[in-house]
Amino acid sequence: MDEQKLLKPYVIGLDLGGTNSVFGIVDSRGDIKATTAIKTQSYDTAEGYVKASVDALKIIIDQVGGIEQIKAMGIGAPNGNYYKGTVEFAPNLSWGRDGTVPLADMFSKALGIPVGLTNDANAAAIGEMTYGVARGMKNFIVITLGTGVGSGIVIDGKVVYGSDGFAGELGHVTMVRKDGRLCGCGRRGCLEAYCSATGVARTARELLETTDEESLLREMKPEDITSLDVSIAAEKGDALAKRIFDLTGEMLGRACADFAAFSSPEAFIFFGGLSKAGELIMRPIRESYNANILQVFKGKAKFLMSGLDGSSAAVLGASAIGWDL
Ligand SMILES: [Zn+2]
Repeated sequence: MDEQKLLKPYVIGLDLGGTNSVFGIVDSRGDIKATTAIKTQSYDTAEGYVKASVDALKIIIDQVGGIEQIKAMGIGAPNGNYYKGTVEFAPNLSWGRDGTVPLADMFSKALGIPVGLTNDANAAAIGEMTYGVARGMKNFIVITLGTGVGSGIVIDGKVVYGSDGFAGELGHVTMVRKDGRLCGCGRRGCLEAYCSATGVARTARELLETTDEESLLREMKPEDITSLDVSIAAEKGDALAKRIFDLTGEMLGRACADFAAFSSPEAFIFFGGLSKAGELIMRPIRESYNANILQVFKGKAKFLMSGLDGSSAAVLGASAIGWDL
């Protein structure tokens, strides 16, 4: 452990989600020492949001011995720009959808410590590198499978931010060229439109509509089906539900084979709700990857699930940004 970590043993992590903003004070081993949360959307302005956050934070900062104990803060936020520390045109934030919010600066001024910010998938990659299964790895790709599909690309030990701070949008590579599904980004055929949690539910509805196959999922209203319902049905042996995971994994494996051609990672790490389906999704991913991968990369990349505790993974990922500030 370096001297800095002994002098200031903690960092703050903020997982800024569409519904909740969860804060944690974390030590260098990845243990969360104190935690608090506020509702993200209860504020009309970014100033109101930051003030409420700081009020909540002060209580847990006191619990660990005061701000002198804290090295820095890291934020994982939608549409986060690492270079500028801003959240830009985030469609799901009441106070952030119409422009650029200098969130890192605002928190830094209010708390008197350095603050860094990036999108949630990059935060997940930094978290895996700092506390998780990517410790010691220099080249890997984290793919977050949640409401959307995100990615954090690490090359030579560094997250790839690109020319503008927004690099690594692998969820929006086009997988289906002809008549692809409409994606939340306004384009068609994106990986995210098929392989996110909502994409999986959409596949379920499509298959139920276009086949007569028996399935436990027919007991539900189609519009109520979630990816979790598909998981539960597949675990009970439901053939249609298993096929949904086969189709999803097939596309993810094909996408990973293309990503490998770009950065030759030693591992793909899957993070988020859908990755909890375990072998149901991991087996078809591996099979499809092996069937599609360029000969020179064959058998090299590992396929791993996130090593971070699910409920706190996003906070840990965000906090890890703080160690490098
Ligand atoms: Zn898209």
